[in-house]
Amino acid sequence: MWKKLLRRTKKRLVKKSPAAAHFKNHQAAARLLIHERLAHFAPLCGVTYTRVAVRNQRRRWGSCSSLGNLNFNYRLVFLPAHLCDYVIVHELCHLKELNHGPNFWAEVEKVMPEYKASEAELRVIEKKFGAVVSQHAYTETSYFGQLAKRLMVV
Ligand SMILES: [Zn+2]
Repeated sequence: MWKKLLRRTKKRLVKKSPAAAHFKNHQAAARLLIHERLAHFAPLCGVTYTRVAVRNQRRRWGSCSSLGNLNFNYRLVFLPAHLCDYVIVHELCHLKELNHGPNFWAEVEKVMPEYKASEAELRVIEKKFGAVVSQHAYTETSYFGQLAKRLMVV
């Protein structure tokens, strides 16, 4: 009886979490966007990738494991287009150089010569939103807004 009640309460709590709901509502859009940009930039970076995960992670925009698995924050859909692209290129270049040494940055610069400005812009956004971009930044001009428009005209 108590166990049943506890299980039910737990279920309700999960359902009610606004963070979980936000992730659920935007995960599909994020996946669509991230896969589209990965497919675009991977040949430009000269890499191939296999496993991609789109997650609700608090502290990182993206990461790359030593096994070559790419992880991305679903909040990328709320970033301006060029910043989302920068995160994508950054992680793809980690498939070549799994560090932040001069060779890594040279790879990023080849594909994205203006990457330093994007890096700085990201830091500003992180300060403003506490490392996490909230739904307040989700507008018509956000990346997903633009992608949606592009998909409609094609
Ligand atoms: Zn990095």
